Amino acid sequence: MRELCMKDTSDSSPAARICCGIPWKTGRIPVVCLNHRLNSRESANSGRSGRFPQSAMFNLVHPQKVHAIMAKKTIADTDVAGKKVLMRVDFNVPLDGTTVTDDGRIRMALPSIKSVIDRGGRLILMSHLGRPTPGEDNSKYSLAPAAAKLAELLGKDVAFAADTVGDDAKAKVAALQDGGIAVIENLRFEKGEKKGCTEFAGKLAAFGDIYCNDAFGTCHRTDASMVAVPEAMAGKPKVVGFLVEKEIQYLTDAIENPARPFVAILGGAKVSDKIQVIKNLLNICDKVLIGGAMAYTFSLAKGGKVGKSLVEPDKVDLAKELIELGGDKLVLPVDTHCGDGFSSDCNKVVVNSGEIPDDFEGLDVGPKTAEIYAEIALNAKTVVWNGPMGVFEMAPFDAGTRAVAEALAKGTGTSIIGGGDSAAAIRVFGLEDKVSHVSTGGGASLAMLEGHKFAAVELLDNA
Ligand code: ATP
Repeated sequence: MRELCMKDTSDSSPAARICCGIPWKTGRIPVVCLNHRLNSRESANSGRSGRFPQSAMFNLVHPQKVHAIMAKKTIADTDVAGKKVLMRVDFNVPLDGTTVTDDGRIRMALPSIKSVIDRGGRLILMSHLGRPTPGEDNSKYSLAPAAAKLAELLGKDVAFAADTVGDDAKAKVAALQDGGIAVIENLRFEKGEKKGCTEFAGKLAAFGDIYCNDAFGTCHRTDASMVAVPEAMAGKPKVVGFLVEKEIQYLTDAIENPARPFVAILGGAKVSDKIQVIKNLLNICDKVLIGGAMAYTFSLAKGGKVGKSLVEPDKVDLAKELIELGGDKLVLPVDTHCGDGFSSDCNKVVVNSGEIPDDFEGLDVGPKTAEIYAEIALNAKTVVWNGPMGVFEMAPFDAGTRAVAEALAKGTGTSIIGGGDSAAAIRVFGLEDKVSHVSTGGGASLAMLEGHKFAAVELLDNA
């Protein structure tokens, strides 16, 4: 069996596309090698394009399926005319040099941006981009290309400040007219951002009369711009943008008030990533279906044979605990589609779960499991899905993931896809418009499914 290695790489150069002897397949997104997996939640600036098709990013919600109101005040509820609105957005876009290769995240912020400028507000936009090291040459992480792209999308001037809280930022903010926009330089150029520093936050807070959080992908973090800034703006309006409103509305509804049967489908590479999610969802769901490589750790826990499959031996005890805790609610695969190599053209065999031959590894759930899972998903009234059922990047091992995706697309219940690779999968299959909601924040949506509340949202004004 193969133990999971999580070497993180954000290098997308052609050389880096060969990993463990396995070439990245062009035209497939995202490509993840078993041993050198690209951490997609944090790799938005890796230079890969095509991960989020623009149309998909902008059309996240099936309007008929929105059915709850969240309890936070939104930017629409706030009088912004002549006021300076300090808005935290997620402009963490992929760049190729100075070219934005996917402007999906900028487009998603447009409704909140337009709401401010169309009503005569003066908008200051702040965001992080990539993982710069404060104090070093970080020019490749500049937000200047994102500001230029925003100007292009809006068809109007957007001022760009070459620093974050320095003289240029102060000058650009002071020069704003009603309906004007300034983007300040990458928050992470300042070490105070990641540290949640109150002094840095105070400088940002001084820019605004109103604070708005429209960066869902960062809501689970406590960076200065997310928490210390609104804290420093006591007495001023602090609201959510439309994107955060929509995301939290869907996930809160699903967790707190689900139509039943409520089913969770969890897959992906590692059980350790999802322990808390599985525990939390076992408490609130009617069924929790397990797929992906994490199923083999459960198989080991049941004394099964896993061949060369990807497993986490140190999590076997935990898997045993979850099996006991879950009882009938926890549904494990009954069969496995295996290969004798990590490629589309390897020799393949379908076996019962726990009977994987020594020279083979499990690469997808088998056809019987796919059918059972699809049936459960189809009949559910609420489904949350996080993590693919197999190596969906590599046919024919995409079959299990596709079966689940198609069942969700066909179903009439609320279906919520939790970001990251499962969101990428549903887009690859062209089904994103057929589910209720595709989250824009893998880490943030996972944190919500784990039952966490976000400090960054809690401290905003109630509706
Ligand atoms: P993210 O972590 O990006 O939010 P996610 O939660 O949707 O995404 P991950 O836990 O990251 O999913 O796992 C996705 C990866 O797991 C995919 O690249 C897929 O190829 C891989 N994977 C799924 N099943 C297997 C398997 N049987 N063997 C090896 N890898 C697998």
